[in-house]
Amino acid sequence: MFKRVPGTRDILPGEISWWLKIEEASRRIFSLYNYQEIRPPLIEDARLFNRSLGESAEIVQKQMFLVRNNEDIYALRPEGTASIVRAYLENNLDKTNSFVKLYYTGAMFRMERPQKGRLRQFHHLGSEVIGSYQPQVDAEVISLGNRILTEGGINGYKIKINTLGCRQDKKELSSNLNKSLKDKLGQLCKECQVRFERNILRVLDCKNESCREVVSSLNLSGSHICKECADHFKQVREALDSLKINYQVSPYLVRGLDYYTRTVFEFIHPNLGPQQDALGAGGRYDNLVKDLGGPEIGAVGFAFGMERLLIADSPQPTVNSNKLVYIITMGDAAKKQGVRFLDQLRRAGIAADTDYEGRTLKGAMRQANDLKAGFVLIIGDNELNKDAVTLKNMSSGEQKEVKSADIIEELKC
Ligand code: AMP
Repeated sequence: MFKRVPGTRDILPGEISWWLKIEEASRRIFSLYNYQEIRPPLIEDARLFNRSLGESAEIVQKQMFLVRNNEDIYALRPEGTASIVRAYLENNLDKTNSFVKLYYTGAMFRMERPQKGRLRQFHHLGSEVIGSYQPQVDAEVISLGNRILTEGGINGYKIKINTLGCRQDKKELSSNLNKSLKDKLGQLCKECQVRFERNILRVLDCKNESCREVVSSLNLSGSHICKECADHFKQVREALDSLKINYQVSPYLVRGLDYYTRTVFEFIHPNLGPQQDALGAGGRYDNLVKDLGGPEIGAVGFAFGMERLLIADSPQPTVNSNKLVYIITMGDAAKKQGVRFLDQLRRAGIAADTDYEGRTLKGAMRQANDLKAGFVLIIGDNELNKDAVTLKNMSSGEQKEVKSADIIEELKC
């Protein structure tokens, strides 16, 4: 028998109501905040990600699913931001209204070593606001993420924020780190020894115990942050305070992608375990639009990992059919009548199903129970003679005879 590819999941029917709950809550909230949906393709020119995320990013270095087509190399998208900025520019959205607020949901692909909360195909629920440098927009995006979590019924998470400063500030931090970590390389994990060469900022948020010890001894003062960036961050915090959003400032929070500058943030949850505790993350990327050939405009966004939200929420599997009407027939004539009813009910917008297998009444009732049907409609010779059905309310147990002509009216009440 074939098995699914490691690091992928089957989302089974029992789980779908959870996905719908989160998706519906977030669509409602996005619309309240005046965001519009965008659906870019799942494959892009691989160079888009090399350019945006940076050649040294782990995603680009070793996690992209690449598809070669003669000279072209396509990548299954590992994240949404680069695609959305590409779509924004390619479709001239900046020409009609340079300020856009967008959201998206869908599958992302990264060639990771599969483990809890780390998949090769996972789903993002994200937003991107393009066209503003204003710190209040950072706060709006964080508050939007916060609202999605609370209305999605997810509790117990924390929000961490930090500022990376502008590109110049990041450079200064990198060179400070280079000086102070040079003599401590032996105390860093293997991955951080590579990060030291390629992407030194990532050493700051390594979860490895010994790296954490080294990092906390560095006593980062934030002195590399320039005045404008410090002021921007102050205004983000003030805006969050006025929105009454709880957050922690975490000077060691960095994001692994080149495009991030200034504000970065994470929503973390204890159920995810210490290695990857982020439900979602995001930040500002004020240089990306220009780097991809567009105008000089600021932007900020975030993405939640749906599968991580699922771990944090740990819902019970459900069969979402409490409105289902289940038709049980006895005998051939009743079966024909049952099929007619089935069609009438569905046309009237009432969810309905039947026992096609001709089970005994007891067996069919068990089936109705398993499906968590709200009502059972029984048709036998007796009912046929009276041009009626027996209707059983499965939650109260009440049973009554209803004329065939009145059944839709009755069920709609
Ligand atoms: P990133 O694009 O890496 O900032 O990821 C944003 C969010 O996507 C993370 O906080 C996770 O919730 C989720 N995520 C990232 N990578 C994976 C993965 N390999 N498997 C599952 N979820 C992921």
